Amino acid sequence: MAEVQLVDVEKRYGEFLAVPKQSLTIEEGEFLVLLGPSGCGKTTTMRMIAGLEDITAGDLMIAGERANDKPPKDRDIAMVFQNYGLYPHMTVAENIGYPLKLRGMDRKSRDARVLETAQKVELDALLKRRPSELSGGQRQRVALARAIVRTPKIFLMDEPLSNLDAKLRVTMRAELKHLHHELGVTTVYVTHDQMEAMTLASRVAVMREGRIVQLDTPKKIYSEPADLFVAGFIGSPSMNLVEGRITGGRFEAPGVSLPVTAADRDGVVMGVRPEDLQLTTDGSAAVSGKLYALELTGDSTLVTLRDRTTSICARGPADFEAPIDAPCSLAPKPGVRIHLFDKTSGQRID
Ligand code: ATP
Repeated sequence: MAEVQLVDVEKRYGEFLAVPKQSLTIEEGEFLVLLGPSGCGKTTTMRMIAGLEDITAGDLMIAGERANDKPPKDRDIAMVFQNYGLYPHMTVAENIGYPLKLRGMDRKSRDARVLETAQKVELDALLKRRPSELSGGQRQRVALARAIVRTPKIFLMDEPLSNLDAKLRVTMRAELKHLHHELGVTTVYVTHDQMEAMTLASRVAVMREGRIVQLDTPKKIYSEPADLFVAGFIGSPSMNLVEGRITGGRFEAPGVSLPVTAADRDGVVMGVRPEDLQLTTDGSAAVSGKLYALELTGDSTLVTLRDRTTSICARGPADFEAPIDAPCSLAPKPGVRIHLFDKTSGQRID
């Protein structure tokens, strides 16, 4: 049975349509990530599931029951927010144990459960401190511990890692992934960080202007983006996108020429990922231009070629060196996917 189902759900704030009519099924045990730029409606969608926002139209089903009018406390949901929402006057232990206290669990069982949970997120040494005496990362872990202290039906997480430094984000990402594996609780997670989405999700719903534009596994979203928006949003550095035409079985644009399988047409955008291109010195060049910039990332070098109309980035070997402005050629690696989109509609054509 699907754990959460949105059926033609719509949200208006007065006249403003924040989330146009949409349907979404979240399977039991799934880790579903809502991904999209600021203002696309991720938080609104999540808050409707939590019961913190009225639903203007449509049905919200939780475990097969209509939940539109169910108060948040009766939905068996635990939430983690970006700003933690900790109680400043309570200790770490009291914060973590609060959901158990609300449910009337006795002191002794509560203490045992709090300790066990704190150990999971490595907070057991800090149980007596107050939130003001903790670092951002520690506060974040308290919020997480408070959410997992009991096993709810659903976890809702809204950018829970966004206040952490880069290193801690990566560590906590692995913690979340492990936790999901361990507990198997249906999770809905909001982020604008595509890397977070790709690494955590069972499925990603990419949102734009209130609508889900693609709902797929991370692998599929990466290898087969449904449109230009998703193609440009997923991947770092992002996919190279070049406008041109297909003629005689080749995609042609200034400085770019490569074989494709689609039929001849104008108004095409070709997409190729930087990691799918390689430097070449033989006659197989698909892209020719002048070297514009080299950026060493550690395990590779980002090579950017640029002319008046086109800029193309390739991921080359770490030891690649050449003078700026030197002529340079790139070719797709054998067997990689060349993406083709309709320039006007933005939809994938191949
Ligand atoms: P962010 O990543 O910036 O948090 P988001 O994708 O979560 O963005 P939402 O917070 O869901 O976006 O907002 C969706 C749209 O609804 C935005 O255009 C926003 O301005 C609007 N909106 C959100 N809350 C309200 C409100 N209470 N009243 C009016 N408009 C609102």
